[in-house]
Amino acid sequence: MPTPTDTVPLWLDDGAYAPRPPLAEDLRADVCVVGGGVAGLACARRLATHGLRAVVLEARTVAGGASGRNGGFLLAGAAAFHVDARERFGRDAARSLYARTLRAQDEVYALAGELGVAAAVRRTGSLRVATSEDEAEHVRRHVAALAEDGFPGELVGPDDLPPVLRRSGLLAAHTAHDGALQPAVWVRALARAAEAAGVRLFEGTPVPAPVPAPGEGPVAAAGGSVRAAHVVVAADGALPALVPEVAGAVRARRLHMLATAPLPERVLEQPSYLRYGHEYVQQTADGRIAAGGFSDLDAGASWTDREAGAPAVWARVERWLRDDLGVAAPVTHRWVGVVGYASDGLPRAGDVHGRPGLHALGGYSGTGNLVGFLAGQALADRIALGEHDGLSVFASP
Ligand SMILES: Cc1cc2nc3c(=O)[nH]c(=O)nc-3n(C[C@H](O)[C@H](O)[C@H](O)COP(=O)(O)OP(=O)(O)OC[C@H]3O[C@@H](n4cnc5c(N)ncnc54)[C@H](O)[C@@H]3O)c2cc1C
Repeated sequence: MPTPTDTVPLWLDDGAYAPRPPLAEDLRADVCVVGGGVAGLACARRLATHGLRAVVLEARTVAGGASGRNGGFLLAGAAAFHVDARERFGRDAARSLYARTLRAQDEVYALAGELGVAAAVRRTGSLRVATSEDEAEHVRRHVAALAEDGFPGELVGPDDLPPVLRRSGLLAAHTAHDGALQPAVWVRALARAAEAAGVRLFEGTPVPAPVPAPGEGPVAAAGGSVRAAHVVVAADGALPALVPEVAGAVRARRLHMLATAPLPERVLEQPSYLRYGHEYVQQTADGRIAAGGFSDLDAGASWTDREAGAPAVWARVERWLRDDLGVAAPVTHRWVGVVGYASDGLPRAGDVHGRPGLHALGGYSGTGNLVGFLAGQALADRIALGEHDGLSVFASP
């Protein structure tokens, strides 16, 4: 039998989800949000708390995209390590972005508690593990840069690493504020909170590309349309297709993951990422190992918006689990997700140049669980209050 290349992610494999109906009428709203991932939902919920009428159109189900297909790391900072971000974007800009993500992280923990999904948003801490001498030096500089800027983080020596990481890990940076998500449970809770705040949410409603700006006509889907003063496209991996203006700066990329059956014991309390973040692994609350990586092995083929995987990459992740981490449990799930990579490493959030009323969110380069939440809320504040400050840490689309 051929190996499937398009399978169900562990996080979405609950069999019990009842989707909301598709859009089947012509509506008016203040804001139409295209995309029901963490960014679009955080944006829509925040718009509603400002008293604006927001409608979300989602092609599949909420968390059906990267938000329900990811590694489940809730990390402060953006894609570049803080020490590198200081060099690339300037110390003040890097510090400001990191500080905002730390505040957003607290907000996510508090909100998850309020929404009754604290078990899906666990404050576990995380380990950034060095697998070579070069990387060990980078980890030391990373922790030093955090300390210089007043952010928490400490070095963990080889003897204090969890036994599963000792074979490949030389030392690690521990950041106690980071967390582990069951991302689909979290994002679905965010969707319910958005609806409770007044947002209207339609699933099974793909919007044809390119998405029109408000002056170019309503946002039309098969069964209806939305006419709004603002349109937000929050689609990360699909952003270059839906808003061609960003295609030069953000490229779609597929990332592979798999999950095992539950292990009888707990081997990893903190989500851990290795080899400059190429590989990532967490043990779920029910004992499974969820892991991904080797996108560099996927090379040119990784630059695609097709949600289908390469058996060779999954096989490499599986070998890594067995040979390097010593995890022998059988693999039960394999999947991919598509994300948007920004050419300069900076997430995009704001107004699309030359198309009044059209806004874009995305390009988190594989780290949008927290940054997407932050960017969505910042854009909502900008639309509702005209406030630009929150967007200053992002690049314009
Ligand atoms: C394998 C993998 C591992 C990752 N690991 C991590 C991690 O550990 N930590 C982390 O922070 N980030 C991680 N990420 C990245 C993170 O998942 C994304 O950055 C984040 O989910 C982006 O959220 P979003 O709301 O912008 O996009 P999405 O969640 O992709 O949401 C966009 C939505 O738009 C919908 N859509 C697309 N086209 C249309 C259309 N035409 N009409 C209507 N709707 C449309 C999609 O169905 C989708 O639901 C990972 C991603 C992957 C794939």
